[in-house]
Amino acid sequence: MLALSAEGILPKVDYAIFADTGWEPKVVYSHLDRLEQEIATPAGIPVLRVTAGNIRDDALDPEHRFASMPLYILNQDGKQGMTRRQCTGEYKIKPIKKKVRELLGYPYPQHIPKDIFVEQWVGISTDEFHRAKDADVKYMRNRHPLIDLGWSRADCIRYLTSIGLADTPKSSCLGCPFHGNAQWRNIRDSSPAEWADVVAFDAAIRQGNARANASGNRLLGQAFLHRSRVPLDQAPIDHVTAAEWAARQQELDDGAVMVEELENGVVDGCSPWACRGASEYEPVQDDFGLAS
Ligand code: SF4
Repeated sequence: MLALSAEGILPKVDYAIFADTGWEPKVVYSHLDRLEQEIATPAGIPVLRVTAGNIRDDALDPEHRFASMPLYILNQDGKQGMTRRQCTGEYKIKPIKKKVRELLGYPYPQHIPKDIFVEQWVGISTDEFHRAKDADVKYMRNRHPLIDLGWSRADCIRYLTSIGLADTPKSSCLGCPFHGNAQWRNIRDSSPAEWADVVAFDAAIRQGNARANASGNRLLGQAFLHRSRVPLDQAPIDHVTAAEWAARQQELDDGAVMVEELENGVVDGCSPWACRGASEYEPVQDDFGLAS
């Protein structure tokens, strides 16, 4: 959308906002730098980087309130669960809203008159139509220009390729539990330092987040980044185990979706105002409601 706007195919936007969780892969940060230098700045579009902190550091800091990631839980009785996902809201939506309020001249907690709002573009293609949602506040009105253009994911890739951006990486936290095996393998096989980083994080959150433990709100069970609920450096990321098949089949009576998801990650992943709504993927339990 940034390139389409810079090229004049879409109207020129006033700003582009990137919500930084502090734990994106290196290739995402370098891609963002490139977009800024080669596309946004020449077109006069400021790229605003906003953040609510570093999600990795916060999870391991006993002093810090942590907005829970969607971790896979193995309870003491062998039952499986997941922690509630709060991170998208905390690390992406909140800092974007804060910046938008600032841009409108009404920083929190000022009341924003009802005729004051921004038009916010969310980059969803036609094959993701179900993700298009309204904003939950009146000072933001969502639009989905790719859907208006009738562009599918393949159209977007064709366009990106035509302007030299065929290698556009997917943005998400390095250790996001929504990764499928393909993403985990890609980290392991292409970036040993980042693989070591996610393996260390996976081990560090085994007993839940640091703040909950420090406050005596211990997790009665174990937490994992990989859906097999096996430590990441031993997890079956090169193949799908029989246990994973069986567990997923119980959750979703749809084999086709299951194969795609185990390989390529939770289909709709994490995106502000475009998160999947269905809870079928997230048998929701309070984040550390599993705790004592
Ligand atoms: S990418 Fe994953 S871990 Fe990061 S904010 Fe989104 S859901 Fe949470």
